[in-house]
Amino acid sequence: MISLENPKKFRPLVGQAHQVAMNMLRPISRKYDQAEHAYPKELDMLAAMIDGLSESGASEGAGAAGVRRDESAGADAGVKNGANLASVLSVQEMCWGDVGLLLSMPRQGLGNSAIASVANDEQAARFADVWAGMAITEPGTGSDSANIKTTAVLDGDEYVINGEKIFVTAGGRCDAVVVWATLDRDLGRAAIKSFVVPKDTPGMRVERLEHKLGIRSSDTATIIFDNCRVPAENLLGSPEIDPKQGFAGAMATFDNTRPLVAAMAVGCARASLDLTRELLEHAGVVIDYDRPAVVQSAAAARFLQMEADWEAAHLLTLEAAWMADNRKPNSLEASMAKAKAGRVGSDITLGCVELCGSLGFSENELLEKWSRDSKILDIFEGTQQIQQLIVARRILGLTSAQLR
Ligand SMILES: Cc1cc2nc3c(=O)[nH]c(=O)nc-3n(C[C@H](O)[C@H](O)[C@H](O)COP(=O)(O)OP(=O)(O)OC[C@H]3O[C@@H](n4cnc5c(N)ncnc54)[C@H](O)[C@@H]3O)c2cc1C
Repeated sequence: MISLENPKKFRPLVGQAHQVAMNMLRPISRKYDQAEHAYPKELDMLAAMIDGLSESGASEGAGAAGVRRDESAGADAGVKNGANLASVLSVQEMCWGDVGLLLSMPRQGLGNSAIASVANDEQAARFADVWAGMAITEPGTGSDSANIKTTAVLDGDEYVINGEKIFVTAGGRCDAVVVWATLDRDLGRAAIKSFVVPKDTPGMRVERLEHKLGIRSSDTATIIFDNCRVPAENLLGSPEIDPKQGFAGAMATFDNTRPLVAAMAVGCARASLDLTRELLEHAGVVIDYDRPAVVQSAAAARFLQMEADWEAAHLLTLEAAWMADNRKPNSLEASMAKAKAGRVGSDITLGCVELCGSLGFSENELLEKWSRDSKILDIFEGTQQIQQLIVARRILGLTSAQLR
């Protein structure tokens, strides 16, 4: 029988993450929304606590970095609730607190997820304490990530990287960036590899930070690579260009990170629903989960519809993470989760602003902020339209050349 409860072993983790979100993130949420680009120094203590928990083994997947695929979990290993599920559960709770602050958490960047997904054991150990951003997007390359122009040329035992990366989350603050670059543009997508580039490497510079609609506490940087040399052993995965493997190696990271972004949307939408229910009940609106929506007030019916959307997004997210834990191919489910959660995350947070009227729009409450924060979750790590394309390709059995 399918159990839709959170696994018992993760309940303490979820409880801790919720406490952290309520007591440490919420109180500074508005402050760093208004002080865009100011470093949320309060997070240093929190990051140290998470490091401590991870080192003691007390907290599997306490943050976004816990997405390494466990080799022991094969068909024979039985059903496993592992680091991927733990990560989405804790990320969801933390984003009930604040998405921008979660994205600003030291050593929990999307680059850390990439390292966890594809690094060999030596690299995983070497980059264990590094806070890593993820640099894929370029001025001429967003959704079409196979079109990357940044180059990496082998020179002796180093790669020389040249190019420009934009919209790098935590790019100003992190210790290193996982950079996607091509070894040979003539060989297409199979030649795209990822490289860990430490921040102090000569030839790498942060050019500017963006001003944004939402997640303002998270810095978003443009980074230039000008003859930037990194050791050959900083290439993640295999240096071989295998046309049969194609883009699959590089794209595999997304199977782990898209459920995390879906979890961010689910957490932020949950925050909006919880506060909206409180405000509606305070205004005398009765929401009855046991009666059909059609016999309730329009506000209650709308609220119940949003709850249903939230539930669907939540369950898809857990399914995608659970499949990763159990080494089941989950590209389809990861994109479904991201598409559903990204879209309903925006719908719900904006719907909550609408239901609460002037209170929803005012800065006295965080509802207006959450409606701004949630929009990015339907854009980065693949937009809504791109997720739908991926889902359609997978279901119809078409390649990216056949359906684009
Ligand atoms: C705050 C923020 C943080 C970010 N963080 C990172 C990061 O850490 N690392 C990183 O590498 N990138 C990051 N990005 C970049 C983000 O991943 C890209 O913005 C995203 O992939 C979309 O690319 P684009 O902006 O170039 O839009 P485009 O690809 O130009 O798309 C524009 C529109 O066209 C649609 N579209 C494109 N192709 C198709 C198609 N084939 N069919 C139908 N519709 C299509 C898109 O869905 C979108 O609506 C970030 C962006 C923002 C705003």
